[in-house]
Amino acid sequence: MRFDIITIFPNFFEGFLTHGILSRALTNGAAEVHTHDLRAFTHDRHKTVDDRPFGGGEGMVLKPGPIFEACESLNLIPKSLRDPSKETVILLSAQGRPFTQAIAHELVEAERVVFVCGRYEGVDERVNEQLCDRELSIGDYVLSGGELGAAVIIDSIVRLLPGALGNPDSARFESFGAAAVPSVVAPGEPPPSTNAAGGLLDYPHYTRPADFRGTPVPEVLTGGSHEAVRKWRRQMALCKTLRNRPDLLANASLSAEDLRYLDKLRRAAEISMPE
Ligand code: SAM
Repeated sequence: MRFDIITIFPNFFEGFLTHGILSRALTNGAAEVHTHDLRAFTHDRHKTVDDRPFGGGEGMVLKPGPIFEACESLNLIPKSLRDPSKETVILLSAQGRPFTQAIAHELVEAERVVFVCGRYEGVDERVNEQLCDRELSIGDYVLSGGELGAAVIIDSIVRLLPGALGNPDSARFESFGAAAVPSVVAPGEPPPSTNAAGGLLDYPHYTRPADFRGTPVPEVLTGGSHEAVRKWRRQMALCKTLRNRPDLLANASLSAEDLRYLDKLRRAAEISMPE
């Protein structure tokens, strides 16, 4: 899979590309990342990429010319003929649609993803209209540039590439994962770490030591009952989702057992509410 990043700060990505899963994917050829210095597509002595906004107001805007030329140098298929499920151009923007794990799953199917990183007050809108297939935001806050957004999106896609994670189930069944989960553990089978899937947040994890500075891990995890572990993990995922992201519950796939547990949690919360 190929990523191209159009940016005024190509060196920004140096550290990010040399660690962990991403670095491994680059080394084994599963992914390639190419950065393109926007200033290389300017024609004046000062390598000017920005200009004042029409209509007045503070700040500067990235000019369309260098971005169009940068895209042309990449031999992209024109937007009107492009199949964005194979080759897609993304504008990073605080005004974009929120980036989600579901979009990461869509993008991992593409062969090539191109990012246009804004700076200053943003990018001339003709870039969005004529070159880009999607305008994406990585959250409801304003960054100083699109580079962090591109890095976040690349990271979340690359870990979904086949073979990127040691255990492919890790990507299928983690927070926000849409895959359905087995509702009971088969006799003799260890509990799969899948009890957060179906659109919930992940459950809490513990590792050794069993007792850390006087705080033991929950007893159920060391009790040897796989079914009890499955049930506990599912309940904790429901509990975390209800507490931190109740909005996710509306689209989660929930069993009758899940709904009963959520009802119990909600009633317990009502009881503990102060008068
Ligand atoms: N004037 C813009 C606004 O109010 O929406 C903010 C521009 S911001 C300072 C400069 C650049 O950072 C944007 O063009 C965009 O590329 C990037 N950026 C800022 N916030 C972002 C976000 N939440 N997600 C993705 N990119 C973002």
